[in-house]
Amino acid sequence: MKRIFTGLLILVALLAVGLFVMRGQIAVAVMKRASAHTMSQDVIRDLPDGLHAAICGSGAPLPDADRAGPCTAIIAGKRLFVVDAGESAARTMGRMGVGSANSLVLLTHFHSDHIDGLGNLSIQRWVGMSATTPLEVHGPAGVERVVAGFNEAYALDAGYRTAHHGPVVAPPAAAGMVARPFTFADGADSVVVLDEDGVKITAFRVDHGPVEPAVGYRFDYKGRSLVVSGDTSASPNLTRQATGVDLLIHEALAPNLVAILHDGALAAGSPNRAKIFADIPDYHTSPEAVAGIAKAAGVKALLLTHILPPLPIKALEGPFLGDSRKIYSGPLWIARDGDLISLPAGGSDITRKNLLH
Ligand SMILES: [Zn+2]
Ligand SMILES: [Zn+2]
Repeated sequence: MKRIFTGLLILVALLAVGLFVMRGQIAVAVMKRASAHTMSQDVIRDLPDGLHAAICGSGAPLPDADRAGPCTAIIAGKRLFVVDAGESAARTMGRMGVGSANSLVLLTHFHSDHIDGLGNLSIQRWVGMSATTPLEVHGPAGVERVVAGFNEAYALDAGYRTAHHGPVVAPPAAAGMVARPFTFADGADSVVVLDEDGVKITAFRVDHGPVEPAVGYRFDYKGRSLVVSGDTSASPNLTRQATGVDLLIHEALAPNLVAILHDGALAAGSPNRAKIFADIPDYHTSPEAVAGIAKAAGVKALLLTHILPPLPIKALEGPFLGDSRKIYSGPLWIARDGDLISLPAGGSDITRKNLLH
C-alpha cells in the first residue's frame, strides 16, 4: 500500500514538473486558439437591433487602476458613436471587442481627461479597422483647435505607418481626424447634430462653468432613448432633455469622499492639491443630486459614470451613493469599464452585462 502511495506521489510530482517545463508551449497553444477568437470578435455585428451603451471608460482624471478615462460608446443599429475619448479609451474598446470603421466621435467639452485618448482612437480606427475616411469629431466651438492639434501631433506617426504598411493598409487620405463643429441658434439650448438612418443625436447645453461650451447628448433610435450628461453640475436643461428616457448616463462626484482627499492633501503639506479637491465639487454633481434628477425626469434606469473619487474598495460604493437609492427607486448602477447596457428596439427591456469581468 505504502509503495503504491509513494509511486503515485512520484507520478504526480513528475507530471507537475512536466507541466512546469512545458508551460511556455501550453501558453503558446492557448494563445493560438485565443488569437483567432479575439480577432474575429465583433460585438456590434452580434448585437440585436437597438440602442446600446458600452462603457469604454468610467473614470475621471485621478489615477484609477480599474477605470479608463471618460468614454461612452453608443451603438445604434450598426453605427458606433463614441462620446469622449479619455486615456485608454481605445484600448478598453479593443478589449471589449467594440470598434468599427463606421464610427464617429462626439466631444462633450475639451477638458484634457475627455480628449487625451483621441489620438490612439483615431489610429486604431484607421489602421486597425481599415477606415477609408478620416475620423469625424463632432463638438461645440473649439473642436477645430483640438482636432488640428492632434493632427499635427500625429502627422509624423501617420507618415511612418503608410511607409511601413503601404497605402492599402494605411491610406494617407484616411489618416487623422476632421472637425465637425456645431453651434446653437440664438437663444437655443439644444441642436440636432445628426439625423440619419433612424438615429437622432441632439446636443444640449449643460453647466460645467467655467468650462464653456459644455454639452450633453441625447440619442433616439427606434423608440428607445438615452442621455449622456458629459461633465456638469445639476442642470435643468439636462433634466428637460432626459425626461422619460430609458437610460440616463450621468457623471457623479461624491463630495464626502473628495473631502477626505482634500484633508489628506492638506495633511501631506500640498495646499495646491487641496485647493483642487475643494474646487471640483462645484462643477460636478453628487450621486444623491443625480438620483434627484433621475426621479424628476422619470428616467427608466440610471448609470453613474465619471466616478470621482476612484473607488478601489467595493465597500466604498455605499458611502459613494449615500441615500441615492432612497431618492431614485429605478435600477441604479455604478458604471464599470466593460459594461454594456442594451435597449433592444421594439420593446421596453433594459439589460446590463459586462464584457470584461
Ligand atoms: Zn471630466
Ligand atoms: Zn470636465
